[in-house]
Amino acid sequence: MSKVVIFTDLDGTLLDSKTYSYADALEALREIKRLNIPLIIVSSKTRAEIELYRKRLSNTHPFISENGGGIFIPVDYQFDLKIPEDAEKADGYHLIRLGTDYRSLCLALKALKKEGFNIKGFDDMDLEEIMELTGLSKKEAMLCREREFDEPFVFYGKEETLSLLKKRIKEMGFNYTEGRFLHILGKNDKGKAVRLLIDLYKDALGDIRTVGLGDSSNDFEMLKEVDIPVIVMKQDGGFNEKLLKIEGALKSSQPGPSGWNEQIKRILKML
Ligand SMILES: [Mg+2]
Repeated sequence: MSKVVIFTDLDGTLLDSKTYSYADALEALREIKRLNIPLIIVSSKTRAEIELYRKRLSNTHPFISENGGGIFIPVDYQFDLKIPEDAEKADGYHLIRLGTDYRSLCLALKALKKEGFNIKGFDDMDLEEIMELTGLSKKEAMLCREREFDEPFVFYGKEETLSLLKKRIKEMGFNYTEGRFLHILGKNDKGKAVRLLIDLYKDALGDIRTVGLGDSSNDFEMLKEVDIPVIVMKQDGGFNEKLLKIEGALKSSQPGPSGWNEQIKRILKML
C-alpha cells in the first residue's frame, strides 16, 4: 500500500460549524494516528489557532494557515521533506510564505470602504465583536487576531453590490475567497500550498495517495489537487455548490466531523 497523506479543512469539516468540536471524528483520528498517516491541517485559521488544534490532536505534521498563505514544516519533522531554499526559519518551523503581507490587505479593505462598500474586517472589530460573530472563546478569538496573510471581513451591503466588490478586489490586484466569512488575500489559495506539500512528500516517500476534505468554496482548489476529494455535508444537509462541480468527489452523508469520520474510515478500508 502506498503512503497516504490527508489534507483537511477545519471549520465545518473536521470541526463542527457551531461548537468547533471534533469529538465525532475521534474514531477515524485514532486510526490515522495508528497508521502514522500525515494529517495536514489546511485552514483559513491563523498559525496560532492551528497550533492550538495541533496540540489538542497531538498532531506533529506540517500545516497550512490562512487559506494557503503560509506553509509551516516543523524543523524536527519525522519525514525528510526537502525544504525549499526560500523558506525562512521561524519559531521551530520552516516557513514558506505564499501569502501577501497582512497590512496591505487591511489597507485595501480600508480603501474599498472609502469607495462606499459596506464592509468590516476583523482588524476593525474589537474582541467581543469577533467572539459574537465566530462563536469563539476569548482565548481563541485572541489567537484568531494574530493574522499574517488573510483578512476575513463581513459584507453588509446588497447582493448586487457584492459582485462589484469582488470585481474591485481583483482590480486592486488581490483575491477573495469564501468560507464562513469573505476573505481578502493575495495570489495564494489552499490548492497552491497543498500542491507544494504534495510534491515534497512525493520526493521523500515516492508514490503517495492523497485525500482532501472540505466543505466550502475556499476548499475548491485544494480538492482539485488531491487523488480523493471529499465534500463534507453542511449543517443544513446541503453541499457547497462550487465543490459539487469537482468530478468524482466523494460526499459525506452526515455533516461536519461525523461525515469526516465516516469518509476517512471508508477510504482507509478502500486503500
Ligand atoms: Mg470550512
